[in-house]
This record gives sequence, structure tokens and C-alpha cells, in this order.
Amino acid sequence: MQGKPVALVTGANQGIGLQIAKDLVAHGFAVLVGSRNLERGEAAAKEVGPEARAIQLDVTDENSIVAAAKRIRSELGRLDVLVNNAAISNTRMRPGMSVAEYSKSTRPSNVSLDELRAVFETNVFGVVAVTQAMLPLLREAPAARIVNVSSGVGSLTLNADPAFPWRSIFGPVYPASKTALNAMTLAMAIELESTGIKVNACSPGFTKTNLNNYAGTETVEEGAREPVRLALLGPDGPTGTFSNTNGVIPW
Ligand code: NAP
Repeated sequence: MQGKPVALVTGANQGIGLQIAKDLVAHGFAVLVGSRNLERGEAAAKEVGPEARAIQLDVTDENSIVAAAKRIRSELGRLDVLVNNAAISNTRMRPGMSVAEYSKSTRPSNVSLDELRAVFETNVFGVVAVTQAMLPLLREAPAARIVNVSSGVGSLTLNADPAFPWRSIFGPVYPASKTALNAMTLAMAIELESTGIKVNACSPGFTKTNLNNYAGTETVEEGAREPVRLALLGPDGPTGTFSNTNGVIPW
């Protein structure tokens, strides 16, 4: 069995996930860089360093998920931290299309159900599927942690407030997928409460990544801070919370 604690970060070939992988290595973890494209994962793992290795993992592909769990058991024999970071914001935003234009075409009244299903498949069902597959390993770890990378735009409480700046783009696709992810987080935390496995959701903040065409205002180092803090929670740390670097976010 691997001597160091092991972390799996989904969608770690770029963006915030890649930075989370780097930070967890710096905190003494052996890190599995999840990537749906193995070559890109290998390039990212090389960038992280010798304590990282790539693992092919498409969170929407059951075979890929099962194979990844088998490989972790056979090659490393343990899993201490799962960071469910992989997500997509849409499948239909054409080059040059603004967020406002896209959100206009994806209102509850006119959204394509295919678009809705595609985004929920990755951002919600993918998280549940990966977590289910990894739970047997996580249950064997002395102090496992699950971190779901969500978004403040999924907060129902914030969006119900007319003064919330992102309210006008609250819609059924990406924002609602993060609301659903928050619900899954709380459900997982409640089920696992007695096991000591802590499950928390966080928002990295508006971070400069491919997800938003690099329009974000935070660096990936800043974006990775809260997920990494939650991955490293000690025995007295919370479970079933939603937070960013400023503290608790209302559900
Ligand atoms: P990103 O740079 O686009 O990274 C997303 C990652 O998810 C990529 O590695 C992508 O892989 C991967 N991914 C997408 N679909 C996948 C699938 N089916 N299976 C496996 N991996 C898949 O975006 P990011 O900003 O770093 O996003 C990381 C997390 O932060 C997401 O959960 C996002 O919702 C959340 N977040 C971001 C912001 C922000 O402002 N950036 C704000 C709030 C929350 P490919 O490279 O193959 O596409």
C-alpha cells in the first residue's frame, strides 16, 4: 500500500483542478490527476511533479469510472481524498457568444433539455457516480474527505435576493446544476456523518480558467485555496457545509 495519503482530483488536467493537484502534492499527498484525455492528464501530472500520476477518468463514462477505481485499488491500495472538481458550464456556447446571450437562450421557458441533461450529467450525476465508485476505498481510509467544487451561483438563498449581482443569470443549466450538486453534498454528508468521512462543498470564486474563457478575476492559486482547505480538514472540521475563502455561503 502507498505510504503517503492519496488524493484523486477529477478534471485536474487544467484550471483549478490542476492547481488543487499541485497544492495537495505540496501538502504531502500522492495525487491522481483525473483527466478524460489521458495524454493531457499525463502532461499535467508531469507539470505537477513525481508525486502525481495521471488517471483516465471521464466522469460521464461508467466504464472509465469503474476502471479508475480498480486501478487505484490495485496500484495504490488507498484513497484518502476525493475532490470532485470536473465540470462544464455549457455545451452550446458558440465562439464570441456572451454569457448574457447564452443565458437568454437557456431560460426555463426555452432551454434545450439536451443541454440541461448534458450539463447535469457531468456536474451532478458524474459526481454521484465517481463518489459511489470511490466510496469503498474512502471508507477504508483513516480520515477520508470529499470536496465537491460547486459555485456561489448555485446558492438559492443568494439568488432569491434581488440585490445579488449574479441573479439575472441564475438559470436552469450551470447554476441549477450547482444547486443540485449542493443538495447531493448535503445528502452525502448526512449519510456519511457516522463514518467520520467529511463531505463539503465550496466555491472557488470567479477564477480565470477555460470555463469562463479566462474572464475570471481570481488566479487559480486563489481558486484552489478553499477546496484544498476542505481536503485537509482535521478531525474537528465540519461536514455538510458550503463555503468560500470568506466563510460560509448560504445554501
Ligand atoms: P476548467 O479549466 O474548464 O476545468 C474543468 C475541468 O473539468 C477540465 O479539466 C475538464 O476537462 C474537466 N471535465 C469536464 N468534463 C469532464 C468529464 N466528463 N470528465 C472528466 N473531466 C471533465 O474550469 P475550472 O474553472 O478550473 O473549473 C473547476 C471547477 O470550479 C468546476 O467545478 C467549476 O464549476 C468550478 N467553478 C469555477 C469557477 C470559475 O470562475 N472558474 C467559479 C465557480 C466554480 P477537459 O480539459 O478535457 O475539458
